[in-house]
Amino acid sequence: MTGHVQEGSYDGAYISNTKIAHCYANRAMVLTDGRGATVRDRTGRRYIDFTAGIAVNILGHGRRDLARIAAREMRRRIHASNLFASVPTVQLAAHLVASGPFAACFFGNSGSEANEAALKFARLYAHRTRGAGHHGIVSFSQGFHGRTMGSLSATHKGSYREPFEPLVGGVRYLPFNDVSALAELDARTAGVIVEPIQGEGGLTAMSREFASVLSETCREHDIVLIADEVQSGMGRTGRLYGSNTVGLAPDIVTLSKPLAAGLPLSATLIPERINELLSPGDHGSTFGGNPVACAVALRVWRELTRTGFLDRVVQAGERLEAGLQSISAQSPILGTPRGLGMLRGVPVETDGEPAPDLLGRIIEQARVEGVLILRSGTNMIRLAPPLNIRDRLLTEGLARLERAVEQVTNDYEKETRTHE
Ligand code: PMP
Repeated sequence: MTGHVQEGSYDGAYISNTKIAHCYANRAMVLTDGRGATVRDRTGRRYIDFTAGIAVNILGHGRRDLARIAAREMRRRIHASNLFASVPTVQLAAHLVASGPFAACFFGNSGSEANEAALKFARLYAHRTRGAGHHGIVSFSQGFHGRTMGSLSATHKGSYREPFEPLVGGVRYLPFNDVSALAELDARTAGVIVEPIQGEGGLTAMSREFASVLSETCREHDIVLIADEVQSGMGRTGRLYGSNTVGLAPDIVTLSKPLAAGLPLSATLIPERINELLSPGDHGSTFGGNPVACAVALRVWRELTRTGFLDRVVQAGERLEAGLQSISAQSPILGTPRGLGMLRGVPVETDGEPAPDLLGRIIEQARVEGVLILRSGTNMIRLAPPLNIRDRLLTEGLARLERAVEQVTNDYEKETRTHE
């Protein structure tokens, strides 16, 4: 363990990070710091950030108020464990529980962990109320719920799951937004897990009809309906929860990504009929409800629930939608924009077929133009800016994206002409 350790080699804004597991790219741009909706790379170049740490940093970068709160809590005690209580944790739980028909909150650290808890609670509920054999879990096509064994079992994409099989049994996938498929649900189903808008799987929003029939069917059979709001929650769609936006009435809501605006934290919000069945020891998490993360999340919650905050998100979302529509109208390689609020995107396609390579080129060209964007599904441009981004930056970011799309479209047209 002695001698020289090679800590990574730099190439401009990039670092080759071969000691980070290969499930991530070996070469990545280093982000050093940011302010509001902008970030800087290690060469000092500034970008408009439409990625927000993958829909995490809802209040943007470089927040001194959050830094002060975290530092204050760390000076007091960095961690308490769930053997003891800490005030920020208890206070945050109270606010989250009051946000819907919930009785209690289970804290974890990641979206997967929140969903893992939700799936376990659904099974425990069915087992205790209906007995063994009622353990079925249903999720939907293109749904994404995480990478731990349980949450992965409910994730639809085969390539994410297959190398790790056998996974948790008893999971079925039904077609998303297909009302007739919901007839398959019955009392043997313990839980249904679904995203109000599919974050990783292509930005399809749940239809109001599907939301209504799904809520009703789950109620009828006493199936625990879990809304995975890890990406759609906390104001992203213009309402507190994506469920509010699409008209879904879940029993359990899971939250994570933006809950502490960048610190790891998750919450699984549960109703009384499940909470009353739980006893100490049924489930747990060492770091869940860490006071530093919860104190920051309390501040985030105050900001989010401040009068006018969500109205402003709705307006910004409309701006984003109009911008994307105008960009897509000018390019033959873009399809029809979709999404809700501040989670929107547009498919990249040629002759109606997905064009993932062109999407990759657009993401890179956007970076060159000075705006960072995301991918969703195989071929969707995904934009998930900080919710409080200023209008001026939103407009400028869209203009940069437009230039990037124009450049890639022109190059593509030149290439296809020379191949003809
Ligand atoms: N559910 C949804 C809807 C998500 O978007 C994600 C992350 N992309 C997860 C669950 C998993 O979250 P995590 O990576 O924090 O485990």
